[in-house]
Amino acid sequence: MTQPTLTFHDGHTMPQFGLGLWQVDRDKAADITRDAIEQGYRLIDGAWIYGNEDGQGAGVSASSVDRADIFVTSKVWSNGMSHDDVRNAVQASLDKMKLDYLDLMLLHWPFQDADVMVTAWKALIDARKDGQVRSVGVSNFHAHHLDRIIGDTGVVPVLNQIEVSPRLQQAEMRRVNASHGIITQSWTPLGQGRSFDAEPITAAAARAGKTPAQVILRWHIQMGCSVIPRSTKSERLAENFDIFDFELTEQEMDAIATLDQGERTGPDPDQFDMKA
Ligand code: NAD
Repeated sequence: MTQPTLTFHDGHTMPQFGLGLWQVDRDKAADITRDAIEQGYRLIDGAWIYGNEDGQGAGVSASSVDRADIFVTSKVWSNGMSHDDVRNAVQASLDKMKLDYLDLMLLHWPFQDADVMVTAWKALIDARKDGQVRSVGVSNFHAHHLDRIIGDTGVVPVLNQIEVSPRLQQAEMRRVNASHGIITQSWTPLGQGRSFDAEPITAAAARAGKTPAQVILRWHIQMGCSVIPRSTKSERLAENFDIFDFELTEQEMDAIATLDQGERTGPDPDQFDMKA
């Protein structure tokens, strides 16, 4: 089984598939992270706000795989923070994880105040220059947020992590990301199971001998998105990873495309009031 990778415009490479750690209990995060890595996962997505970065880092270090072969992401929650505050937040994440560097650090949400957003982006760029992080990206950014930070700094995020699922396919935002050379990474990729019993999903699952969740995760992969499903159960970690031995046909991809409702499970980034 070959696990696909994606190459950023800055030259670094990331596994396309990984584990998400949102809503994973702090005391379980290390075991789940280690279990996933032993099963073959090489990308672990966390965030300061998830409150489990210590477990994320402990799981990476406790695994039998070299740190250099694991891709570790976190996100700063930096509303109202100064440049120094953001730099300190990056260091705090590293300290919590007991790691020397992160592969990728994201701004978790855009900010109501665009000037604060630019300041935070400049701080991440400096964290990259100083080697605290290898690559820098964003999450939940609309086109106008991207335009602002790129326009002010000339530095293009390598990745934009946004909500994508069969009922929220984000064709326009994926196109905008691609036009900048930015990788789209899908959060809540299973869409809270709302499409599990939709006919295009069940038909593809029956044809391929896979589960609805596997069909949906495969759909993300074939769209070229990175995907980071969460599970706290070992057998589901295995199920979600077992998507590299089959392909959806063009007809199946087209049928899944009809499920788009523009339906978010989370907030619209333009409305989200990010409390510090
Ligand atoms: P997800 O789409 O990964 O779904 C998780 C839910 O699906 C859980 O309830 C889990 O029990 C269930 N599930 C997992 N595998 C399953 C399977 N094979 N069959 C049936 N049910 C299954 O949702 P998520 O955790 O919200 O999103 C994934 C990751 O994306 C998060 O853990 C986090 O890392 C990231 N995320 C980022 C943001 C952001 O603002 N950047 C927001 C939300 C999530």
